[in-house]
Parts: sequence; structure tokens; C-alpha cells
Amino acid sequence: MKQYDVIIVGLGPTGGTLANLLALNGFSILILEREKNLYALPRAVHFDDEIMRVFQTIGITKNFLKNTIINKGTKFVNSSGKVLLDWPRPKSITENGWYPSYRFHQPDLERNLRNRLKTFKKVKLLQNTEVIKIKNNINSVELFFKSKNKINKASSKYVIGCDGARSTTREQMGSVLDNLGFTQKWAVVDLILKKNKNKLPDRTIQYSNSERPATYCRNVGKRRRWEFAIQNDENEKEILSDKYIWNFLKPWLNSKEAILERKAIYIFQSAIARKWRKGRIFIAGDAAHLMPPFMGQGMCAGIRDVSNLAWKISLCIKNKHDGKFLDTYQTERFSNVKEYIETTMRMGEFVNAVGSENITDNISSRPDGTKSMQSIKPKLGIGLGSNKDKNRGKTFPQLKMKNGKTLDEKFSKSPLLLTSSKLIKKFSFNKIKSITDKDIKGLSNLLKTYKAKAIIVRPDRFILKSFKSTNDFNRINYLPL
Ligand SMILES: Cc1cc2nc3c(=O)[nH]c(=O)nc-3n(C[C@H](O)[C@H](O)[C@H](O)COP(=O)(O)OP(=O)(O)OC[C@H]3O[C@@H](n4cnc5c(N)ncnc54)[C@H](O)[C@@H]3O)c2cc1C
Repeated sequence: MKQYDVIIVGLGPTGGTLANLLALNGFSILILEREKNLYALPRAVHFDDEIMRVFQTIGITKNFLKNTIINKGTKFVNSSGKVLLDWPRPKSITENGWYPSYRFHQPDLERNLRNRLKTFKKVKLLQNTEVIKIKNNINSVELFFKSKNKINKASSKYVIGCDGARSTTREQMGSVLDNLGFTQKWAVVDLILKKNKNKLPDRTIQYSNSERPATYCRNVGKRRRWEFAIQNDENEKEILSDKYIWNFLKPWLNSKEAILERKAIYIFQSAIARKWRKGRIFIAGDAAHLMPPFMGQGMCAGIRDVSNLAWKISLCIKNKHDGKFLDTYQTERFSNVKEYIETTMRMGEFVNAVGSENITDNISSRPDGTKSMQSIKPKLGIGLGSNKDKNRGKTFPQLKMKNGKTLDEKFSKSPLLLTSSKLIKKFSFNKIKSITDKDIKGLSNLLKTYKAKAIIVRPDRFILKSFKSTNDFNRINYLPL
């Protein structure tokens, strides 16, 4: 039986990102994907700065950036076109080193992720292959999969199910999916304009309307999307007919102006799995949680999951398996994703004109009477580090090094200690790699803003620990180093 460091089930955006993050460590990885080819039609169309930073770590931004545009934000309007709420996305670089929000075409991202994976010699992809059974052992996982009508077997140190909403891995783990309450059928229509049409908005518009809640998305290039809710008793075939769709689109464009690329009906759901790890088996992405797409955060949540999990699994492969350490994957991610799901549900209720505009705690009134919303930034849940440390779990900014590179380019696999060159000797007992103000512009001032003498940053760019004084300098005993 073939043995790998890691087996990944499913090569959607979650599996593709995880495989790349793990491959940076040189691990042997087997990816098993049910589909024969890349799924050519888009679902996700938006992601944010935190996610672009993960793509930067993987090394795909140079190519992928060409396939993206900066997103200007969202407006919520009522049936008579009055703006009820504005959610602008300022065109300025954030602490993550990127713009707050981007629009993209999902197949472009998946192609970039796959092309990058081809550059790693120890990554093997089997397509047209379905995982059917997964068995947890004490030191390994056995996995059974169907390929070319034959049942095969492989084993690995860890298995991660990135196998989507109907996850086989979740089912094999015996994890229950809790429904959080939002379930609604929506039609999704993707179009490609034949010519530019400047009258179409360059923002996302949410049409808050109890009869036909709808969304318009300004996507990349000439791509545009409309989504609208449908009642359970409506005839799906009729709704998806060209006649019905062009009639629905009348207020914006006619059939001579665009090509209908695809039309589909989705059930927008809100759900979260109770258990994300069993022994050496994990779930991530849609396998672990589902949310309606109003905020464009479902895929983003999956990428946050694997950014959290990849470095933890890597330390366990390199050093030693540590169940307690790996449990922090779920405890840190669960509350973060739940806040996104609940906020998205409130947004869905607002778009259905049954909820208020108080979607987040960050709604302010403008002098002209309109209301404005800011993006949420849920914290990491309880996990590594102490919650008494006010800096723990904050995003660490993308810093410039004196050699012109960014600090992100220097580290991606293990935590990194940042302190002054004067204090570095006091850390010599620690196994954590370090870097000082000798190499990083403005580090001393930054440490002052954190009221810290030193900081440990995790490979997923969150602060693990800040040290207030040199008396505080002690060994970090909760990492398998
Ligand atoms: C209309 C719509 C719009 C959306 N818009 C956004 C957006 O703008 N931004 C955003 O962040 N999110 C958005 N989302 C959500 C986003 O598309 C999903 O969260 C994301 O695609 C999930 O990625 P994943 O890799 O976890 O799962 P998937 O993309 O579902 O991939 C799972 C993979 O696993 C494979 N698989 C399943 N079972 C097995 C098995 N037993 N063996 C082998 N392989 C298997 C499948 O073939 C599939 O390729 C949207 C969703 C919809 C429906």
C-alpha cells in the first residue's frame, strides 16, 4: 500500500490551497478528486485581502492578479431604487498588504492553484477518483478509493476532507451538520456582455425586496451575474427557461446584449459541522460549514481554515503528533466562521426585506441620512496563546524588509519571533526562529505600538504571543517544536 504524508480529499479551492501550503514543506501529498476535469463554471466571485495574502504565500499572485479586479463595494436598495445601506470597500491597501476586496472568476483561481501544484514533485493528483471509506489508526489513516472501477487503498499520516457540502469525510468521521436556520432557493444566472454597457452598476447591488429578493454582481471583464430568490412552489424548469430569465433581466439588458453563460438553482444554506477533527482525520471548507453567498465569504472561510490547519499539521509531521495542539484548529476557526455565517444570515434577511439594516455592530449614519456598513473582522477563537495577551490573535501586518522583500516572503512554515537585536540573545533557549530590527524597517516602532518587547507571529500571519518585558521571556510549551 502506498504511503503519503498527507491525503487530501477534493480539489476545490479549499483542497487546492491546502495542497499548495503543505507542498511548500516538501511533503508527499496525494489528492483524490471525484471529477474528471476542473469545474469550468464559477460559483465564488469575491474574496478579500486576507485570502490574497494566502495566495501570495503560495506564490500564485503574479499570474492570478491579472484575472482579478478591485471590488468597489455593495449597495442595498429597496424596490423603488432608494439606497438603504452602503457597504463601500475603500481603495486602499490594508495591513494584509492588499486591497480589501477583489472580484474573480473561480475557474481562473482553480487553474492557478493546479498549475502551481504541478511544480511540486511529491504531489500526486488522481482525478475521476472517489473516496469511499476512511479508517483512523493510531499512527496513520487508511483510505479506500474507487478509480477506473477498481477499489484501491492508500495510507497517510493525516487525511483532510475538502470534499464540499456533501462531504464523505464528514460522514466517515460521524460528524453532524447543524442547520443554523437560513435555507432558501436561489437562481444564479451568469452572463457575458457582448459590448461594454456603462449603465450597469460597477458595484454589487442587493435588491431588498420581499417578493423577489435579488443580487447583481459586477464581475471580472465582461462577466455579470444576477441571482434571485425563488419560492418553493415555483416551477424550477420554467424559472430556468431562457424566456423567464430574459424577462427577469429586462430592467438591465436584453438578449442581444449578452450571452447567457449558465443558469442554475442553488439552495443557499447556513450550517456548521459539530466535529472538525477525529484522530488524524480533518474536514475543512464547505465540508465543515456552509453559508449563503451574500457576503462572498464561503470560499474565503475554507481558505482561512486551511491557512490555520496547514502549519499545524506541518509541525506535527516534522516533529511529533500532538492531538491537543491540533484541536486548536477547530476551536480557533469555529467561532470565526460562525460569526461570518450569522452576519450573512442577517444580510440575507435584510435582502429578503424581513430583517433590519443592523447587519453588523458597525453601521453608522451619514450626514445625508444614508447608512454605511463596515466589513466584519471576527477574531480567532480560543486556542493557542493566552486570551489575557491583548495582541494574541491580531493580524500581523505585512512588513517590508531592508532588502526590499516583504517579511511574508521570508517565512511561511514555522512561527517567527520578532524582537530588537539587543534582546535577541535572551531568546537563545527557544527553538523558534527569529528576525530583528536589523532586517526589518520600522520594527522597533511597531513593537512599541503593541507595547511589546518581542512578538511571535504564526505562519498564518496572526500574532501567537507578545512579550511585555524581558522577564516574560519563556519557552513556548504548547507548540510541537
Ligand atoms: C452561487 C454561489 C456564489 C458564491 N459566491 C461566493 C463568493 O463570492 N465568495 C466566496 O468566498 N464564496 C462564495 N461561494 C461559496 C463557495 O463557492 C464555496 O464555499 C467553495 O466553492 C467551497 O470550496 P470547497 O473547496 O470547500 O468545496 P467544493 O468547491 O465543493 O469542492 C469539493 C471538491 O471535492 C470533490 N469531492 C466530493 N466528494 C468527493 C469524494 N468522495 N471523493 C473525491 N472527491 C470528492 C468534489 O468533486 C469537489 O471538486 C458561493 C457559492 C455559490 C453557490
